[in-house]
Amino acid sequence: MKRPLTRPPATLSPSGGEGRGEGALAPLLAFGAHPDDIEFGCGGMIASEACAGRKIYFVICSHGEAGTHGKPKQRIAEAKRAAALLGATIEFLKLDGDAHLEIRAAHAIKLAKIIRRIRPGGVLAPSLVENQHPDHARLGKLVRDAARLARYGGLKELRSLTPHKIEQLFFYAVTAEAEPRDITPVLIDVSGPEIIATWTAAMKAHASQMSTRNYVELQLTRARLLGARAGVDFAIALFPNEPLVFASLAQAGRGARRF
Ligand SMILES: [Zn+2]
Repeated sequence: MKRPLTRPPATLSPSGGEGRGEGALAPLLAFGAHPDDIEFGCGGMIASEACAGRKIYFVICSHGEAGTHGKPKQRIAEAKRAAALLGATIEFLKLDGDAHLEIRAAHAIKLAKIIRRIRPGGVLAPSLVENQHPDHARLGKLVRDAARLARYGGLKELRSLTPHKIEQLFFYAVTAEAEPRDITPVLIDVSGPEIIATWTAAMKAHASQMSTRNYVELQLTRARLLGARAGVDFAIALFPNEPLVFASLAQAGRGARRF
């Protein structure tokens, strides 16, 4: 049985975000190092959250200009199309450029500024596993630092914006190799056929990236495998940066293993 599409998000807190009404869904803010990272890493979960009525923002920190396929203009257009399919607002941020990203306080402050402007409940970043495109793990570290800086009241570069505390920081893995082995994932059920269709379309929007490998089938297979482990058709793994706090055990979902 497929679950209905309109349901409250199961794992991302609907609370949070100062100034929002009680029960309003605080936005979800996802950072990507390259134009396709978010779609391939966790696009099914994005489709699911958007479907539940959540505002979604993408911040892409390069134009993918170091890639073998696709010129920046095409990659920007593909990313915009994919974001539109997923119901996300997208913006591009210039840092050091594709394959040149460095860990710098100034970058973390730039990202913190975006967090203060958008005031998300949940933030998503690429995982910190080193053995992947170097920009992925570096951006993950920068976002983790930014989430902290966004709440510090005394930073002069951020003074024009009210400090903001996010509720959760999750890492996504762009490929299976980037899944952290030392963090138990939270599995998000994305089995709804409309969600899978939307996610697939968003991945296919990155047409320039399809010439070397069938990345769409790779990600769908990954989600099928995770789903099979969890007793659903498709699931996406997110890796929390710290333990999650629930008001009661009843809110904690269920275990992936059916004992
Ligand atoms: Zn990437």
